Amino acid sequence: MKKYRYVVLGGGVTAGYSAREFVEQGAGKGEFAILTADAYLPYDRPPLSKGFLTGDKDAEGVLIEPESFYDEHGIDVHLNCCATGIDTEAGVIATEGGEKFGYEKLLLATGSEIRQFDLEGAQDAGIKYLRTLDDAKQIRKAGIDADAPVVIGGGFIGLEVAASLAQHSKKVRILFPEEYVMQRVFTPRMAAFFTGYYRKHGVELLPGSAVKKFATKNNAVAIHLASEQVIETDLVVAGIGVKPAVGLFMNSPIGVEDGVCVNEFLETTVKGVYAAGDVAAFPNFTTGKRMRVEHWQNAVDQGKLAARNMMGAHEAYDAPPYFFSDMFDLSWEFWGRIEEDLRALHAGNVEEGSFSTWWTDDDQVVRAVFVLNRDDEERELAKTCVSEGKKLPEAISKRSEE
Ligand code: NAP
Repeated sequence: MKKYRYVVLGGGVTAGYSAREFVEQGAGKGEFAILTADAYLPYDRPPLSKGFLTGDKDAEGVLIEPESFYDEHGIDVHLNCCATGIDTEAGVIATEGGEKFGYEKLLLATGSEIRQFDLEGAQDAGIKYLRTLDDAKQIRKAGIDADAPVVIGGGFIGLEVAASLAQHSKKVRILFPEEYVMQRVFTPRMAAFFTGYYRKHGVELLPGSAVKKFATKNNAVAIHLASEQVIETDLVVAGIGVKPAVGLFMNSPIGVEDGVCVNEFLETTVKGVYAAGDVAAFPNFTTGKRMRVEHWQNAVDQGKLAARNMMGAHEAYDAPPYFFSDMFDLSWEFWGRIEEDLRALHAGNVEEGSFSTWWTDDDQVVRAVFVLNRDDEERELAKTCVSEGKKLPEAISKRSEE
């Protein structure tokens, strides 16, 4: 049995950035390994729905580190290595191939699993879901050939993939059951701006579209909606959310609620076992309530922090959630979290696509901010207000409207 001082289970963004940190903190050759079910070295996921799909980036370009990095630093990356069980008493991971790996400290970085349709006809409809580099390769190829792709889901994947597919196809449609897109983040006014922008770029948005079943004939898929409307297409891509990949830990002493429970140091209920990234349910920096964040920056920062703590540091994770997105040429950012009923104020000009949105609580404390095409000063103010729990600045309330 191979034994390592540090093992990372999972080979995504968290694993890739933790590897960098292990090296920076001086982990020795042969001390550290990554076990991943994926066929590729750790890669960044943000380009998969954006630059990789449009063809601006290739597979090499999404790798977090090239192969030479792992060779040079003596890091074993076990690809296509699917874990089947963890013995936390003995510190041993069993894998599908029968091989076992021992660890002294373990980082759980299993990320998320996609939700898939469980509806009549879904299995035969060739629905593409986007999570891995192989998924992105398939969607890129299919997207180039498709005449009228349909994207199901009005969240991140839905909007980003539709914008990328629109560069190949003149007729892209997005179906989603909600009243407006990105309902968990956007206000109705923000959604109206984005909807108009997508329309201007030839993407049709169909809100209130709940899928009832799929029917496939030759290569044509008919999407039957609850409204009895039928949408015909030659490519379906779905982004209908994810769930934390916790199956492996369910019958283990590792505490699981909605994700793997960790404390502020990202240590699980089992000493020496840490979790980071999408799978980690950690205490919110302001409310103390457990939360998970399914975004790149969180995976990067937690991956690095977990590596440092595994190597002896004692640092608490206290960063507010942050994420960004690119949709056509619109690059926007978001700090914080909208967890309850908050008041939203828009500053700038929403309709012209230069605005920020500020969510405040009853005490006027800024809890979340969205920023699109604003100057650096306003962007910095947004970040500081959320990180430091400041009240809505007067400068913003002056230029704001509900
Ligand atoms: P998402 O952002 O959670 O959006 C999923 C959307 O699909 C939601 O609007 C959801 O509605 C809807 N939905 C759920 N069930 C559905 C159904 N049966 N039919 C149609 N729509 C349904 O998830 P995603 O877009 O699939 O993205 C996957 C993960 O990757 C997310 O965690 C996301 O944060 C992450 N991601 C992040 C970025 C970024 O940070 N820029 C980019 C890409 C992906 P409800 O809200 O009503 O459930």
